[in-house]
Amino acid sequence: MKPQTSDSIDVLNPATGAIIARSSDGGREAVDKAAQEAHVALSGEWAAMSPALRAQILWRTGDSIEENLESLAHEESTNCGMPLWLSRLLVLEAAKVFRYFAGSVERIAGQAKDVHANGGVFHAYTRREPLGVVGLITPWNVPFLITAMKVAPALAAGCTVLHKPAEETPLTALSLSRLLAEAGLPEGVFHVVTGYGHTTGAALVEHELVRKVSFTGSGAVGKSIVKAAAGNLKRVTLELGGKSPVLICDDADVESAAATAAIGIFGNSGQACVAGSRIYAQSKVYDEIVEKVASAAQSMRIGNGLEDDTVIGPLISQNQLTRVLGFIEAGRNDGAEIVTGGKQIGDQGFYVEPTVLVNTRPDMSVVREEIFGPVVTIAKFDELDEAITQANDTEYGLSSSIWTRDIQVGHSAARQLQAGTVVINGSHVQDMGMPFGGYKQSGWGRENGIEGLDAFLQSKSVYAAS
Ligand code: NAD
Repeated sequence: MKPQTSDSIDVLNPATGAIIARSSDGGREAVDKAAQEAHVALSGEWAAMSPALRAQILWRTGDSIEENLESLAHEESTNCGMPLWLSRLLVLEAAKVFRYFAGSVERIAGQAKDVHANGGVFHAYTRREPLGVVGLITPWNVPFLITAMKVAPALAAGCTVLHKPAEETPLTALSLSRLLAEAGLPEGVFHVVTGYGHTTGAALVEHELVRKVSFTGSGAVGKSIVKAAAGNLKRVTLELGGKSPVLICDDADVESAAATAAIGIFGNSGQACVAGSRIYAQSKVYDEIVEKVASAAQSMRIGNGLEDDTVIGPLISQNQLTRVLGFIEAGRNDGAEIVTGGKQIGDQGFYVEPTVLVNTRPDMSVVREEIFGPVVTIAKFDELDEAITQANDTEYGLSSSIWTRDIQVGHSAARQLQAGTVVINGSHVQDMGMPFGGYKQSGWGRENGIEGLDAFLQSKSVYAAS
């Protein structure tokens, strides 16, 4: 989305293209004001607060997210087009994330040992301290849950926060800000700064008071953040894109594999970093998998996310629609066969048919690049080794899955697949107690679990002569 004016951004409902709100492009000034306030808040009531009370605030936020489930899910669906069934599910996940990190606050602790040094004995211990003011930058595809996955651990660690949501989807971030205040979060600890990436986002990444940036988004922006963060040597966590492979062996439960793979790519219209966008099916089940995934694609109801029977909603914007159709066209020109889908639907909102491509080659852009739309390629393999080699033949490494009834084959593939997550007999599974992140160019660092909390903490070693 390009700026309409220097400081006003139209927020659209992608199901209709209608403007539903306007937000401001805060820019340098808003970021600086928020950073100054967040810096002050680091040493006030927030720093003095007992861990028990900090945990309570996070827990209450989880409760109020659940109490506001319907309004948050409606807001999310209206703003990013996601079908309500999925918004509800992900809003509930966000509540769980807050509760998980509420539970972790009182477990933040260092270690102790006796140190013999300088001719004496020191009682030595480590303190786990917050990194300080942190900047959290999120994308438009799963706005509320991704925000929760960053905000909850940052607050659990005792940091203060500047959050910049995607310019397309600021609404649920603003709602979260209200819920945090109602839960008792002291003033100045959490700020939402809305705006474009190249203005407000860039200002946040460059700000001298910001000690860490946790970013979820595209690889190109991730790389620019790494460079911009060099100014004050900010720590950086990056959750970037994916081109996740789904391997289906001859002995798999074909029915489940096909149904799960279909929802794994077409759910949220393929706008998921973990979407299983490359299916590799073994020769005996290949035809059946193609037929079943294609018929699942044809049977999913596509429409406005706010309608209860909608399975797949629109893409986020005209830009994304143009981009996804461009990939499909490139695939066709390269010689891929479209089994189903491939076209835009209607002229209102940004809809594209769920699309299945076969007869692809490993060098085609539809196989190599993250499309971020409801487009899947299906290729045939004879030996599993060959499929694993193709699965790993990518700069991405976020998620992957393998379907087989042979447990040894499953675990062996899990060892060989180069990805931050491997699921055996399932599509993407995510739990806030397990680390989530990418191999290779899918990211730096991990979110969720203990590692997600550690990402907002630093250690201090204290030596006391004894
Ligand atoms: P994007 O990189 O264009 O934007 C993401 C965020 O970064 C937005 O808030 C944007 O305003 C901001 N931004 C843009 N330029 C910036 C700059 N120069 N400095 C600071 N901030 C800037 O990505 P997108 O198009 O919104 O989202 C899609 C991408 O996100 C896909 O590649 C997808 O795979 C990825 N993603 C990854 C994960 C994950 O966990 N790995 C999850 C969801 C999405």
